[in-house]
Amino acid sequence: MVNQRGRLLAGVAALALVGTAGFVVATRSDQGVAPGGTAVAAEARKPGVDPAVRKRQLDAILAQRSTAVVKGDLKTFLAAVDPKQPKLVSRQKLLFTNLRKFQFASLRYFVADEREAPAQVDKFGPTTYSTRVMMRYRLTGLDPKPVQTDLGYTFVQRAGRWILVADDAIDETLSEDGHRQPWDYQEIAVVRKDKVVVVVDKREAALGKKIAQVSEDAVEGVRRHWPRPWNGAVMVVAMSEPRVLSTVWTAGTGAGWTIAAKAVTLYDGEPLGLKTVAPVGSRIVVNPAVRKDLEQDLLVHEMTHVATVPIGIRTPIWLVEGVAEYVRSHAIEDDPHWTVDPYRRTVRTKYLPSMKVLPGEAEFDQNGDRSYGQAWWATEYLASKLGKKGVAALYTDLALHDLSPTTYASIIKKHTGQTPAQLTAAVKKFKG
Ligand SMILES: [Zn+2]
Repeated sequence: MVNQRGRLLAGVAALALVGTAGFVVATRSDQGVAPGGTAVAAEARKPGVDPAVRKRQLDAILAQRSTAVVKGDLKTFLAAVDPKQPKLVSRQKLLFTNLRKFQFASLRYFVADEREAPAQVDKFGPTTYSTRVMMRYRLTGLDPKPVQTDLGYTFVQRAGRWILVADDAIDETLSEDGHRQPWDYQEIAVVRKDKVVVVVDKREAALGKKIAQVSEDAVEGVRRHWPRPWNGAVMVVAMSEPRVLSTVWTAGTGAGWTIAAKAVTLYDGEPLGLKTVAPVGSRIVVNPAVRKDLEQDLLVHEMTHVATVPIGIRTPIWLVEGVAEYVRSHAIEDDPHWTVDPYRRTVRTKYLPSMKVLPGEAEFDQNGDRSYGQAWWATEYLASKLGKKGVAALYTDLALHDLSPTTYASIIKKHTGQTPAQLTAAVKKFKG
């Protein structure tokens, strides 16, 4: 991992991405887990079970469990958990303990679609039923609307009751962040400071306080340089567990290109599949490897995504990352002791001369540092021409439209008076 201070002085771009789920989803449908055909086949082999009755019964158990979380009733939460499995019971206890550290304005679990798990049937018998379960919730002070994720539970019928016998049998069929929530691993500490909520390992609560302060300062940085209103409510997850809200901390094809933090977007509705609506919000997840020397400017970059993501998801990556780098650079230079001059020099001498187009996904994938630098410069150019509010207006216009090349060109023209090619040429010439 690049040393954070060295990165700042050398002026290399923040290694960070917006967490878009699109490409991950494509992989999932390749695996063929999404269609409902398997569920239908499974029902056909179990003539004794009325799916509607089963759904009603399981939903009732799940409703009791969500009420138990809100009320702090561990006994009810564990009532349907298999008492013959001490490891499962202790995992479920820990889940309850962790969930209780958040404040849920609303919480609901409900049965979604069946996922076949033959090994579980072999183990627990013919009534075994593995299903995705939706968790729809809203965290007080963080989520303006409910968001939804999925988890995977396996139930069996014993003496006329449904018993939870496994909570990890179908994880590979869940959404990218399903069952990888901050509350799904070791015991956590939740540190609150104003509207910032920081999640760390319980034994690293002191680190949580430090990150909460840095986060609050970062929120102020975003507010100074991003002209649209943002309430600054954000969750920063900085745990030692690398799987939380993520599977990979590397990206692209460039060797050693490690992501230091991500803004992971949150949606309401079905978490699998391509998203066509604007996200409800996002969480910031810090790479475990850098959590102990997390720099404020990195959080400024990510928090800019948090502030802009609810506007919409269609803005091209060069402007999404460019705006985040713009806000980050200006927040750094609010302190007269700091400068991003080395970054400016690198962009002008190294990154701009070879630029043919404003960088898209492919360019970011191929060379992250170069693409972030070019994106930043394009945004600096636009801010000099249109002002910050003009950049925000362009961002919003692009976010809300389906971007065919024609629509893209006409929006660029409307805001800048330029064609995309003229814009690129002007960015290359811009001296800052
Ligand atoms: Zn970014």
